[in-house]
Amino acid sequence: VSAPPGAAVEVLQRVFGYDAFRGRQAEVVDAVIGGGDAVVLMPTGAGKSLCYQVPALVRRGTGLVVSPLIALMHDQVDALRAVGVRAEYLNSTQSPDERMQVERDLLAGEVDLVYIAPERLALDSVRRLLDRVAAGPGLSVFAIDEAHCVSQWGHDFRPDYLELADLVGRWPGVPTMALTATATEATHRELTARLHLEGAKHVVSSFDRPNIQYRIVPKDDPKQQLLSLIRTEHAGDAGIVYALSRNAVEQTADWLAERGVDAIPYHAGLDARIRARNQSRFLREDGVVVVATIAFGMGIDKPDVRFVAHIDVPKSVEGYYQETGRAGRDGLPSTAWLAYGLQDVVQQRRFIDQSVGDAAHKRKQSANLDAMLALCETVTCRRRQLLAYFGQPTEQDCGNCDTCLNPVETWDGTVPAQKLLSTIVRLRRERGQSFGATQVIDILRGKRTAKVEQHRHDELSVFGVGADLSDRGWKSVLRQLIAQGVVVTDDHGALGLGPQAADVLRGEAEVRLRHDLERASSGAGAKRA
Ligand code: ADP
Ligand code: ZN
Repeated sequence: VSAPPGAAVEVLQRVFGYDAFRGRQAEVVDAVIGGGDAVVLMPTGAGKSLCYQVPALVRRGTGLVVSPLIALMHDQVDALRAVGVRAEYLNSTQSPDERMQVERDLLAGEVDLVYIAPERLALDSVRRLLDRVAAGPGLSVFAIDEAHCVSQWGHDFRPDYLELADLVGRWPGVPTMALTATATEATHRELTARLHLEGAKHVVSSFDRPNIQYRIVPKDDPKQQLLSLIRTEHAGDAGIVYALSRNAVEQTADWLAERGVDAIPYHAGLDARIRARNQSRFLREDGVVVVATIAFGMGIDKPDVRFVAHIDVPKSVEGYYQETGRAGRDGLPSTAWLAYGLQDVVQQRRFIDQSVGDAAHKRKQSANLDAMLALCETVTCRRRQLLAYFGQPTEQDCGNCDTCLNPVETWDGTVPAQKLLSTIVRLRRERGQSFGATQVIDILRGKRTAKVEQHRHDELSVFGVGADLSDRGWKSVLRQLIAQGVVVTDDHGALGLGPQAADVLRGEAEVRLRHDLERASSGAGAKRA
């Protein structure tokens, strides 16, 4: 049964009260109404929900939406009911009676949209119920929200999501949609493969959020730095402050509150009632600052968050982008501010070492962290680097990030870069080997470790040529070289030559490195080349 042309716009206007589709919504909606599958990668706030809600209302039957967060599910259902859509959910917070009622309504064809938690969909009984709905009143779409949760390497993996793959194609003629705000090419590839959506229409929006000003500062006294940011630029504004530990969350919230900021804590260890109250204060009142762990924010739809601050470095660029993306959904100028210190790196590395998971997983986490550090240490436009990371390179500097507004002091790092590249080249040419950062730096610094002696790396001509820089200094140099595409790492962490390496080795390209972070490194390091 095909819908009349214009049916989608009619629903958009009549039900949701909007004049027109935004960005690439219409493309997605048309494809799905036409019966096609879709993979939708759009930044937070772009309007992914309408991409499945409109087709669900236009097509015959009930739209099935998988959503990982119960709180978010409730909000969405409430919002839909408020505009007259017959929306329901199925999750573990319901009593058996309530669930039975929803099941009856589903079978009677009296539900426009049903939100289901992934663990429910793993149940055979629920799958059979949906089979009966599909065979009876019909399923209009099968939408998987936050689809990056299927990615085992991602920052948000949920085992229940893997099982959703069995359901794709279970109901012939029902379009499958996967939606997410995470947009690395790797995640895109992985979710496409896992959910068997190779044949789907893929819509990837621009990930640029031009109204967000990105700033990353060296961490010195983070609470004080944060307070000064709030007082000088965001007094009375709503904001989110992310910290890594529950302890840091509570301390920071108290500390800010004592200094007159309307700050409240949010983390998974708080009593559920307090959490709900704090979240609702943030959503409903003006100028509340939530200090939170990353447990806070997925699905929070507050348009006027004026700043997002990180007082600890995030684990990945994807996480950073999603968290900062909660600022400025209304399109007005907003700040994404991060205080970054070497101590963070040490701590994050320790988390990775101590985490459960196999070596491949740890390597991946390590690579995620390296990319985040590269963003912290870049000497060029942060937005360009962020967009390039998401596979959307741009030609121009943005003019609205700290490195554009206040170009950083840099030093000529060409010579250390050449030393490092020569080491990689010699290991490969003379020994047929490739090694990770630690071994390469040990060789450069002339350290006679057991591994150096075992491989007789002290006999290489480059052994000890980099003794003038500290370990930290070299690590910083290396991270920046990776950020600039001079050095690349493979899946195993082994270093190789990047696309820019040849020019640097020939002395045809100069390497500029940041000064501030170099100075923060210890001891005899930080010498000017
Ligand atoms: P996402 O899931 O991509 O983060 P949402 O679906 O929550 O984004 O939408 C973000 C906000 O934009 C919501 O308040 C939504 O109502 C609004 N919105 C979405 N599409 C449109 C549109 N076509 N016109 C006006 N507002 C829209
Ligand atoms: Zn910029």
